[in-house]
Amino acid sequence: MQALRLIEDGRLALEDAPEPTAPGAGEVIVRMKTVALNHIDLWGFRGMAFAKRKLPIVAGVEGAGEIAAVGPGVANRRPGDPVVLYAGMICGHCPACLRGQENLCENIADGGIMGFHRDGLAAQYVRLPARQTIPVPAGVDWATSATAPVTFATVQHMLFDNARLVAGETILVHAAGSGVGTTAVLMAKAVGARVLATVGSEEKIARVEALGADAVLNYRKDRFETWARRQTGKKGVDVVFEHVGPDTWAGSLLALKRGGRLVTCGSTSGISAETNLFQVFQQQLRIIGSFGANFRNVAEGLAKMASREVLPVIDSVIDLADFGQGLKRMADRAGWNPTTTVLGWPGRATMTGPDSAGRPNKPAEDLARILGRLERRRFPAGAIIIGGGEPAEEMYIVEDGLAEVLISDRNGLSKIFHSSRILTHVAI
Ligand SMILES: [Zn+2]
Repeated sequence: MQALRLIEDGRLALEDAPEPTAPGAGEVIVRMKTVALNHIDLWGFRGMAFAKRKLPIVAGVEGAGEIAAVGPGVANRRPGDPVVLYAGMICGHCPACLRGQENLCENIADGGIMGFHRDGLAAQYVRLPARQTIPVPAGVDWATSATAPVTFATVQHMLFDNARLVAGETILVHAAGSGVGTTAVLMAKAVGARVLATVGSEEKIARVEALGADAVLNYRKDRFETWARRQTGKKGVDVVFEHVGPDTWAGSLLALKRGGRLVTCGSTSGISAETNLFQVFQQQLRIIGSFGANFRNVAEGLAKMASREVLPVIDSVIDLADFGQGLKRMADRAGWNPTTTVLGWPGRATMTGPDSAGRPNKPAEDLARILGRLERRRFPAGAIIIGGGEPAEEMYIVEDGLAEVLISDRNGLSKIFHSSRILTHVAI
């Protein structure tokens, strides 16, 4: 089989690798369909001094595929079942695991994270314990489901388990053009919150507004904390969604109302930031660190995808062999949505979805490049398109005639749609 390996820090290669041997007790083998790119891939690619690992390892931290084989004692998975893979190798028996708080597993350091500490998901076949797989409901395609374990579940966990965001509250989402940022805007709007968002360039403002954000600011031009207070009648916001770090930290604390909650899952602009402690206790602020998600959050994210309540915004779909370029695109922050690039397996482009407003979500030239490699079709308004994809046959009804859809074949998902509006999308 083929596998994408990190040979040394900063160097990837698509290589032949031995297929996994038959699954042992409690294990399954997954035939991988797609993997999605995240910042953790970038850290893994660049190399981190403190990461205990021995190269080469197979890349890929989140992805989706179908069960190819099950080992003895696995009763709840069958060949052909679509699943996503949870890359943090949990022990399954510590108090945290038994409580369903898998991201707090006491023994995670022993297992490590697939694609970072040990072989990951960018291979044609992956063998792992069946408990590390989560079923994908009908109607969710491979490219979409691939973003469930990290991007979607991380945000689900941050917003609802940790920040406890509810309808009617105001949330400030930083770097709203990123993978977790776009997902946070969509999920917060879906529960009825008011969303203020920051972006780092003028061109992203309209795109984030199109996602449904109530107000968007270029934080490089104006001070976002002053703006956020003005937007809330000088009160401040209920929740700040942080993942930028030093560049925004002090302002994020200032933007909070009394008793407000700051939840953070990352620090892309550096490691250390100063905190005004007087502000923390006088304003009764709560600062909550969040890393990863539990299995329940992954299933909750998949359910939102299946109901079309929230769908990921996918920057681009690229060949597996171009994984390195995808990482570079993310590092350069060139993409509008740099952290949810999805890769097709085996080396074919798969699909890209419309954003929540049904608008094209990627630069036209990139789309043309991808579509140029695929059969291209146009459909009139009201057209009904039947896709032969897995896990289920799917039907799309086009509202205004701008869909471009490639019907999948039996050799894997090759459907691509790019629509100004898909009216209905149902599994049949
Ligand atoms: Zn555990």
